[in-house]
Amino acid sequence: MRKTILYGARDVRFEERPEPAIVEPTDAIVRLSATCVCGSDLWPYRGLNDIKEPMAMGHEYCGIVEEVGSAVTSIRPGQFVVGSFCLSDNTCPHCKYGFQSSCEKREFMTGAQAPLARVALADGSLVATAEIPAEDLIPSLLAVSDVLGTGWYAADAARVQPGSTVVVVGDGAVGLMGVLSAKQKGAGRIIAMSRHKTRQDLALEFGATDIVSERGEEGVARIKEMTGGVGADSVLECVGMKESMFQALNCARPGGSIGYVGVPHGVEFDGEALFFAQKNMLGGPAPVRRFLPGLMELVLQRKINPGKVFDLELPLAEVAEGYRAMDERRAIKALLRP
Ligand SMILES: [Zn+2]
Repeated sequence: MRKTILYGARDVRFEERPEPAIVEPTDAIVRLSATCVCGSDLWPYRGLNDIKEPMAMGHEYCGIVEEVGSAVTSIRPGQFVVGSFCLSDNTCPHCKYGFQSSCEKREFMTGAQAPLARVALADGSLVATAEIPAEDLIPSLLAVSDVLGTGWYAADAARVQPGSTVVVVGDGAVGLMGVLSAKQKGAGRIIAMSRHKTRQDLALEFGATDIVSERGEEGVARIKEMTGGVGADSVLECVGMKESMFQALNCARPGGSIGYVGVPHGVEFDGEALFFAQKNMLGGPAPVRRFLPGLMELVLQRKINPGKVFDLELPLAEVAEGYRAMDERRAIKALLRP
């Protein structure tokens, strides 16, 4: 079969590789219904992470189980499954606390931009649906695997409550899913910080009540002005840059919470400033496994439509164009059909 391999900056190839096989008895092999390109795939794509050897790409996935290892008990061939991009046993202490992305056996999914993928720790990482879902739900079920799961975690970590005033920093796919998540959690006001018309429109569709296009100090001043000088209860940081983290920290009110899910690149904190800021902060790779059953149910009941975040759909063989389109911001997120 052919799969997606990143060789170096802006060098994505779709090339012949052996089909994945069961390696550990806890593995499953999944035939993907759809996969996609993640914003985090753009870091190595842009050469911002070192690439020492060709990397198999892709960590967002859903599809039909083809084969399971001898120790897998809860998942069987023929089932439709969605998995988290963090693989976990779902039984260790961290998993039991709901932090499966810090599982003692954690692995990160790779190789999902392919027709078939190996999923380690299948019992802990995968959730099966009762029946094969309708075809039109596939993009939304795929979104649960990472982009929605991560946006949801940002809202959860930022302690969004019914009636909360929420600011979302970042209008990429995760930020937009953060808006959807805050809306589902009953936020009273959702301010999306974005300066791109198409993303602003999608944010409004997902539940944003206000758009702020200013950034940095001006953006913070605008949020203060809109909240009577107080700041927001909850801020979702969905970028991971120094400027966006500054913006997130300063938009939250004292006692407010920041959920940060953008992988930090060049972010540093000033201990004294943090001390006097008096704000809650929780971030990291999203424990998507905690949210999978609930979010899959919301999709299956057609209560949410996160699949709308995919504004480009390509055959998997054209994966390189998916990367280019996202890199050049021509697309928010590219769905790939094997
Ligand atoms: Zn665990």
